[in-house]
Amino acid sequence: MSDLLAYCQDRTDEMVDLLRACAEYETFTADKPAVDQFVSFLAGQLRDRGAVVERIPRREVGDLLLAKWNAGAPGRPITYVGHMDTVWPAGTLAERPLRVEGGRLYGPGVADMKGGIVVMLSAIRALQERGEMPDRPIWALLTSDEETGSAHSRELILKVARQSGLCVIIEPATAEGAVKTWRKGAADCRLLVTGRASHAGAAPEAGINAVVELAHQILKLNALNDLRNGTSVTVTMARGGYTNNVVPESAEAYIDMRFLKRAEAERVQEAVTALYPLLPGAQLEIIFGDNRPPLERDERMRATYAQLVRIADGIGVTLREDGTGGVSDGNLTASVGTPTLDGMGPTGEGLHAVDENVLISSLPERMAVHVALIQQWVMES
Ligand SMILES: [Zn+2]
Repeated sequence: MSDLLAYCQDRTDEMVDLLRACAEYETFTADKPAVDQFVSFLAGQLRDRGAVVERIPRREVGDLLLAKWNAGAPGRPITYVGHMDTVWPAGTLAERPLRVEGGRLYGPGVADMKGGIVVMLSAIRALQERGEMPDRPIWALLTSDEETGSAHSRELILKVARQSGLCVIIEPATAEGAVKTWRKGAADCRLLVTGRASHAGAAPEAGINAVVELAHQILKLNALNDLRNGTSVTVTMARGGYTNNVVPESAEAYIDMRFLKRAEAERVQEAVTALYPLLPGAQLEIIFGDNRPPLERDERMRATYAQLVRIADGIGVTLREDGTGGVSDGNLTASVGTPTLDGMGPTGEGLHAVDENVLISSLPERMAVHVALIQQWVMES
């Protein structure tokens, strides 16, 4: 075993203590006062490790933190991206207190993603204690609304990603401990159909049936599916009309779209934009909602992951890669062309579920990988 890995394993208890301290803060996205308390705690932890910390206020969600080490050093930064919020409302901890069982720490938010925050903080601490902090800029952007779609942090994430040479997303690894080298992209939209109401008995010919028009559109949307290519287009809700003897004047549907490839995202979104009504006089309106491009396992991702594997091999850690249909802020950082590594937190299970837990032995292992990464990473030129 490498000296570094043994050093990190010696810190396992410290890491568990810090993770417990983080998870004791209940940080439901919608609970700004609660999230802000954790923001203050983390700002202290970051400053304690020598970072210059900027607290960026937000009115509707918790404040954001941007921490910088070696800001004056040459080169583009390695930027850690994590989120402080969880999907668990205050009171969850009383129902499901933190507990250790079978080498795992159970509790709300331990994997998604306070475990990742602890790994990052511990890696920085180790570099300092060992006198090995390289003279390169290291940033950490911690957001507070990832679980609800990053509406209040998206612009800052994109801006920081554009300035960075590598973004390291400290979301949990897969249940098998794999780094995430792909994530599907996601978009959604709402289709509104307007027809014309008329009495279904007295004057059906005077109506324009919005439900019939919507039915045509649903079949066109459904035909955009290409599951073998990783593309799904799912009409998730549909409704129309308001009473049983009137030609319906309005109808609407919600559509969930997922993509593995950027080209597929473009194909589908162009097709949706180009939808046109089939019934004379009917009108369509399309309202696009959230839109995150896929984190694609393209050439850049393959090269980025290959470098990580070489670094981890050097300290005796064997990595694996996998992917997921769920999105993260890694979808955003990769969308501006910045090399991105995702799933760089510890091994987690039961995300957003009642048995959420983190594999304790994966904490020091990931910590060692981050120490080596910060020391050795060679930026793409
Ligand atoms: Zn997360």
